[in-house]
Amino acid sequence: MSVHAQSALIAAILLLAMGINVAFQEKRVAHRLTFLFWIAGFFSLNAAIFAFSLSGGALTLRALLFAGLLVALSTVYFFERYLQKPAGVWRTLSTSTSIVVGLLILTRLGETLFMAGLVALFAVGSYGYGVFSLYQRMREASLVEAARLRYVVLFGVSSILTSGLDLIALFGVGVPSLGYLVNTIYVFVWMQIIQKSRLLDLKDLLGRGLGLLIQSVLISLVFSALVRWGVGPEGTSFFSTVLASVVIIVTFDPGKRLIELWMGRLFFVETFELDLQMSLLKREISSLIDVAALSERLLERLRASKRVTHASVFLMEKAGRGYACQREIGPLQERRVDMIQRRHLLEALRGGETLTRAQVTHEVAKDMEARQRQLELQEALDALSADLIFPFLSSGRLLGFLCVQDDRVREPFSSHEISLIAEVTARVVNALENSALFERLTEKDRLSAIGEMAAGMAHEIRNPLGAIKAAVQLLELDEEDEEQQELVSVILEETNRLSLVLSQFLDYARPFKGNMAATSIGRVLERVATLVRTEDWPGPIEVRVELGPKLPKVYADGDLLQQICLNLARNACEAMEAGGTLTLKAVASREGHPGRPGESLPRVQVAVSDTGPGMTEEVRKNLFIPFFTTKRKGTGLGLAISQRLLAHHQSAIRVDSTVGMGTTMRFTLPLAAPLGDGGAPR
Ligand code: ADP
Ligand code: MG
Repeated sequence: MSVHAQSALIAAILLLAMGINVAFQEKRVAHRLTFLFWIAGFFSLNAAIFAFSLSGGALTLRALLFAGLLVALSTVYFFERYLQKPAGVWRTLSTSTSIVVGLLILTRLGETLFMAGLVALFAVGSYGYGVFSLYQRMREASLVEAARLRYVVLFGVSSILTSGLDLIALFGVGVPSLGYLVNTIYVFVWMQIIQKSRLLDLKDLLGRGLGLLIQSVLISLVFSALVRWGVGPEGTSFFSTVLASVVIIVTFDPGKRLIELWMGRLFFVETFELDLQMSLLKREISSLIDVAALSERLLERLRASKRVTHASVFLMEKAGRGYACQREIGPLQERRVDMIQRRHLLEALRGGETLTRAQVTHEVAKDMEARQRQLELQEALDALSADLIFPFLSSGRLLGFLCVQDDRVREPFSSHEISLIAEVTARVVNALENSALFERLTEKDRLSAIGEMAAGMAHEIRNPLGAIKAAVQLLELDEEDEEQQELVSVILEETNRLSLVLSQFLDYARPFKGNMAATSIGRVLERVATLVRTEDWPGPIEVRVELGPKLPKVYADGDLLQQICLNLARNACEAMEAGGTLTLKAVASREGHPGRPGESLPRVQVAVSDTGPGMTEEVRKNLFIPFFTTKRKGTGLGLAISQRLLAHHQSAIRVDSTVGMGTTMRFTLPLAAPLGDGGAPR
């Protein structure tokens, strides 16, 4: 038997084995049928080469040519299917070429060298087309995918080259025949890809290949040892064969697992460790009820996997206004994630999917808002030292999340690794649901229900209050009786105050229903000035409005903005008991707003200043707490409401106050449209 015949036979047997493996596997994978078609093409090619090398007759030559056509056709089909290309010219072209050439082969032409050359060209051309399509996909693919496609493409190219050499060698020219081997290995590579339904890392693949090799060598050793050196009765080699087979079948499964384990250790140290640590963790989790112990163990296991340089666990705070870092590995910039400032991030996490940096960076922002959201997400990922964030989501509620990063490598985590960690986070959620944290959240629900009830009650009180007021005003009073007059005015004053507290409380409790639009801040400030001028104040007040040049429109709710500015202006006028100047000012600013010093997006800054007495440290600390007031008739809700409304504009009030000098309240607002080069709105 020639070298060709032998190599072709071996290749055919291996291809048949792979075909059987794929065809009879329990798991139904995508592209299985076209892949089987492709294997069938190569199998028939090798079988035909084998037959041709043995006999060399006209019949086997025709079989060889048919096999060549099958390879060409199946390659085009398989690659196009895998890349999910729509049926195009190539598919029609190769199908019709195959039919025409197939018919020609049946004629006398089928015995000519010309025909053989034509088929060879067709087959190599189709193969080349398939690999070229892969190459095209590689150029569009993301970093990780491209890295994984690269070796599949390179392998494909070498497979084409060596097959070309084989074809030449088949006709007697002395070149080494590697094509059989390379092709078969290439099909093996694809089998792994098809079975795992994803592109594998080269290391992973080498590990698998080597594992298979070692396994085969070990089995062969067992087999030949038992058969050759005749265990059992004299001369019964059949008995030895059965014995060897039994030994192999019995030890096959654990042996395979053991070898895979070793290969994993050898080639995939990091993933292997991660796999191991995560499965250990899964077993431990159910016994960890305490949240602190849970986060500690989670991070310990991640650290032991040596796969991460940064990791942190964030859980919802008691008050529910943000997430606090429980524990971390590696330096961390931001140890608290604010519900409002990081609302884009939290919104993304509430979707339940793992958030990956690649996903954020590759997203194409369609408009300004999406772009801003993307920038915010990127900034959040940086601040949290995270390449991946795994949400802990329990029936739509975000209990917390896990941030993970490995800053030693540029490539993000593989999808396998992501799914390993994601599996664990699902268990973490279970554990959290059994923990005290969850009880706390339920408590929060109860409190918010009480809040709603309070709002309902406020409504209930307001109505009879109106009736009381109306009734008192209708009382027929004795004009002479001063005491009576005095008492009635107390009733009226106090009911007025009560209904003010009630309506402000309702403002505070009401869910935010802003109507965000492009708003002229200048017009709002002018209106506030007009309103303030008409009201009575303890002292004489001069009201000034100062507007910066080319003031762009802001993105805000006009009515709410007016309410905020009016609250600040009224506080200022009330503070200036001896009179003074109230200044309402708006200028374009690049300063950003508190809590986000890195932000340099242009915004508009609004400032409300007075020349009043200023405030003490004590007052300043409590300013925004609901019902905190230093005034006899104050409600203490004005600033709390304003702060809450501003939070919905991604902003917050900043206080500058000096005792004896006056107070300035500032906040910034986002622009309605991005600034052009000249600083004017587009
Ligand atoms: P209220 O005006 O009903 O008292 P606010 O929430 O509007 O409630 O204000 C809370 C407190 O903050 C005020 O009682 C006052 O002590 C203080 N304050 C607010 N603005 C100023 C200001 N411009 N100057 C001095 N103190 C102020
Ligand atoms: Mg006030």
